[in-house]
Amino acid sequence: MIRYTLNTRSHLLKVAPRVARQLATRPIHLSTTLIHGDDKDNRVSDVAPPINVTTTFRYDPNDLIPWSERENLDFMDKTPIYSRLGHPNSTRLESIFSEVLNGHAVIYSSGVSAFFAAMVHYNPKRLFMGQSYHGCRAIANILTRNYNVEQHPLEDIEKYAQKGDIVHLETPVNPYGTSLDISEFARRAHAKGALLCVDSTFAPPPLQDVWEFDADIVMHSATKYFGGHSDLLSGVLVVKDEDVARQLRDDRIYLGTNVANLESYLLLRSLRTFKMRIERQSENATKVVKFLNDNKGKFGNVLDKIYHSSLQTEPFVKKQLKGGYDPVFSITLKNKEQCKKFPLLLKYFHHATSLGGIESLVEWRAMTDPYIDQTLIRISIGCEDADDLINDLSAALNKLQDTN
Ligand SMILES: *Cc1c(COP(=O)(O)O)cnc(C)c1O
Repeated sequence: MIRYTLNTRSHLLKVAPRVARQLATRPIHLSTTLIHGDDKDNRVSDVAPPINVTTTFRYDPNDLIPWSERENLDFMDKTPIYSRLGHPNSTRLESIFSEVLNGHAVIYSSGVSAFFAAMVHYNPKRLFMGQSYHGCRAIANILTRNYNVEQHPLEDIEKYAQKGDIVHLETPVNPYGTSLDISEFARRAHAKGALLCVDSTFAPPPLQDVWEFDADIVMHSATKYFGGHSDLLSGVLVVKDEDVARQLRDDRIYLGTNVANLESYLLLRSLRTFKMRIERQSENATKVVKFLNDNKGKFGNVLDKIYHSSLQTEPFVKKQLKGGYDPVFSITLKNKEQCKKFPLLLKYFHHATSLGGIESLVEWRAMTDPYIDQTLIRISIGCEDADDLINDLSAALNKLQDTN
């Protein structure tokens, strides 16, 4: 069980020092943080945080300090100016994410804008990437096209990496849902003076705590599990150093990539139930994968391979995913024709891209990923009943098995 301690940005300063000391040393838990991590940001008496639509805020007549005299921009947490800089619900999100993700969190308009922000800030000359989200790869290609950033595979860290470079590791990796050894990549990156950035979108806490394995930067597409309802885009970067987080927020003002007003409200609302959803999704996926793996022989004409962390035997996998396995996995079918038919035979899985929502999805991955195996089907497990999902998949596979 990962435990979370209140950090210094909390409301503790307002309570008596003795009580504050007691509270500060008492760990609080993920489910409580998700609901109360932003209590200190309350501006009104409403229990549900208001949706703020305004882009601009009246200046406080008692706080007329010119921009040039501000030491940093933390004051905007209390007195926002313009929503591109920060707004009440982006502040609330950063309060919760800083606790939940155990570092200094900076919120963005999408996962790819979080990744881009990291590239702009750390400005690596060389970028080491393996299989990863095609959108992050596309950003790397833009950096290569415009600024000659070198791209290398993960195998070449020892050969080419230098101080200031970035090793970008996605684990569990899209679209397979299998895991890579974070400690091992941290060791290899650090030996060369490079930083390790981990895209942990597929296994947010409590499934995986990336810091335990020595990462330097953590990113999540909050569009996926944190959002969880397939109705918002957002992303988050987490760093260990508060000053780096401040610099990222400064850059974000001019990149124009802060999370939007309405999305931030939706994300805030989603976070309240995040722990219940992710745990259910993880349990469901583990059951579904076990069923498919145990019954693979029955679908011999259709089902080729199954990829998922729960099927990996390397000891590091259990250590990393100590809170449960990731809710996405992939299968390959015997041919492309079966891949076209399979999604249509399912009752409870929408045929659509994306993942992380409460509704289960399947995707014939060739529809959106130009680099992928043409017989790969990615499956994102939602919060339905696991047995209903198993029966649905099993019926579809049986139908294909009989028609071949
Ligand atoms: C979806 C995703 C992204 C990009 O996030 P957006 O919110 O769609 O911009 C990055 N990494 C992974 C692993 C993803 O699944």
